[in-house]
Amino acid sequence: VSTLYLVPTPIGNLQEMTPRALDILKEVSVIAAEDTRNTKKLLMAYGIDTMLMSHHEHNQQVSIPKIIERLENGENVAVVSDAGYPLVSDPGQKLVQETISHGFNVVSVSGANAAMNALVASGLSCYHYLFYGFLDNKSSKRKKQLEEIKTIPYTTIFYEAPHRIEDTLQDMLEVLGNRQMCLARELTKVHEEYIRGTIEEVLEVAATCKGEMVIVMDGFKQDDVVFDMYTAITKVDEYIESG
Ligand code: SAM
Repeated sequence: VSTLYLVPTPIGNLQEMTPRALDILKEVSVIAAEDTRNTKKLLMAYGIDTMLMSHHEHNQQVSIPKIIERLENGENVAVVSDAGYPLVSDPGQKLVQETISHGFNVVSVSGANAAMNALVASGLSCYHYLFYGFLDNKSSKRKKQLEEIKTIPYTTIFYEAPHRIEDTLQDMLEVLGNRQMCLARELTKVHEEYIRGTIEEVLEVAATCKGEMVIVMDGFKQDDVVFDMYTAITKVDEYIESG
């Protein structure tokens, strides 16, 4: 049976390609890439000349049938995104579902993922965690999304763009309270940095933070309930006092 391989690519450091991932990229008949120019650079660095085809959110109506056709012809296909795992805040979800429903193999290959790198070095609990990915661009929607996960007691991982980091952290401070967090930036690259502290402390330096970044946020703690109840009681007291 033909196989669709999900192959992670480096999130910065080009050396983070496993020998197995490279062998698969060499052996498949085509690599479906989020951005073929980007993947071409990776392939050139490793002397791989496998054919590339474009597969992303905006052309998947056309690209998925082409990939299924190749699988039907007995060919194996690899899927890559620009960085890290395909499907993880990247294209590929529909393709995997279609491949499974057509009865072909789907196999994932191990490799780089920004969320995992950030989580394990954050210093926060890795015992239970929630990967959220990107919050909405708009503050009002973002706050609603944060409200939904406010009481989840698991470390939560968010992806964020550098130009939104201050606004997002402000919203997190407002909705989640001043929790412990880690801002992990430029992972596996020359300027890799982990900024650990409370949201307020990280906000003090956030304006100067550039590059790619992951927010790792502490989960809801029982103390937060006490704080919330205290706030509520204080508000009721104030209300009564004001007549
Ligand atoms: N598929 C990727 C993965 O498996 O990690 C994620 C792709 S998503 C479109 C891009 C986001 O991942 C960035 O906005 C950033 O939040 C995070 N990211 C990717 N590379 C990173 C890096 N080297 N350092 C920190 N964050 C990174």
